[in-house]
Amino acid sequence: MTARIIDGKAVADRLNADTAAKAAVYAKAHGRPPGLAVVLVGEDPASQVYVRNKGKSTIAAGMLSIEHKLPADTSQDELLRLVRALNEDARIDGILVQLPLPKHLDADLIIDTIDPDKDVDGFHVVNAGRLVVGFDGFVPCTALGSMMLIDEAGVKVEGAEAVVIGRSNLVGKPVSQLLLRRNATVTMAHSRTKDLAAVCRRADILIAAVGRPRLVQPDWIKPGAVVIDVGINRIEEGGRNRLVGDVAYDGAAQVAGAITPVPGGVGPMTIACLLKNTLTSAERRAKR
Ligand code: NAD
Repeated sequence: MTARIIDGKAVADRLNADTAAKAAVYAKAHGRPPGLAVVLVGEDPASQVYVRNKGKSTIAAGMLSIEHKLPADTSQDELLRLVRALNEDARIDGILVQLPLPKHLDADLIIDTIDPDKDVDGFHVVNAGRLVVGFDGFVPCTALGSMMLIDEAGVKVEGAEAVVIGRSNLVGKPVSQLLLRRNATVTMAHSRTKDLAAVCRRADILIAAVGRPRLVQPDWIKPGAVVIDVGINRIEEGGRNRLVGDVAYDGAAQVAGAITPVPGGVGPMTIACLLKNTLTSAERRAKR
């Protein structure tokens, strides 16, 4: 059996086209486009690339993109003042503070200061709480994107055995909550789980969000399962740099029913979901 490859790029392109169309309708109705502010502190090269890509995608969707690039020695007070100003800025529907922040800044406090109704990353504890109790809020983009790819695979989530490896606030926990909301039977596995291979073999839906290159082996996968590989790992192989996921892809694709590649799977979904969340924020704020 060879798995269907779930094309995250194609799904993200479709989602972006839908968001752009709705953003245009919103702009016409309200005299301004939805707006996203991205704050970058310091010069971390990976963060610079992410911020640039987010800005480009925001503009491509016809939205307002505002970037604040601050020096690495920005004080906590300065950053808090900026976040509070963005909270009050009527043009801005979404605020994203790019993580990681330099060590002298308290990331938890900064995130906590973002208006939860503009927290399009879904990192604020209020949004984590809303997700758990089933209220409308914002769900972290990678978790949201992973769910869309599960739906793209056409699997029935209700009643399915779902195993999520990884319990981070960013991915593992929110994706588990989303699966639970859809009536899957969810197991959360992590670094202390005993016999991870046996736990994974139960899964009709297997989500790997670990950060360990090719941890998940082909014989951990139930034949026909849907495998969502969130991992992004840079490794040296055959004398060159490669990007690989948390799943041993080549072997896994012989066993799974559907699988996301790395790159080109979950990755492209993350920014697309950020734009979707920003549009949702604008629409909700207009109704208030
Ligand atoms: P994290 O380091 O915060 O969490 C990793 C989790 O994996 C932890 O909960 C830990 O308990 C678990 N874990 C670690 N080693 C394990 C092991 N040997 N067996 C079982 N569980 C183990 O990471 P994160 O932020 O959740 O990210 C996970 C991966 O997803 C990373 O590779 C990251 O780069 C990637 N990621 C991708 C996107 C995207 O857009 N595709 C977005 C966010 C994160």
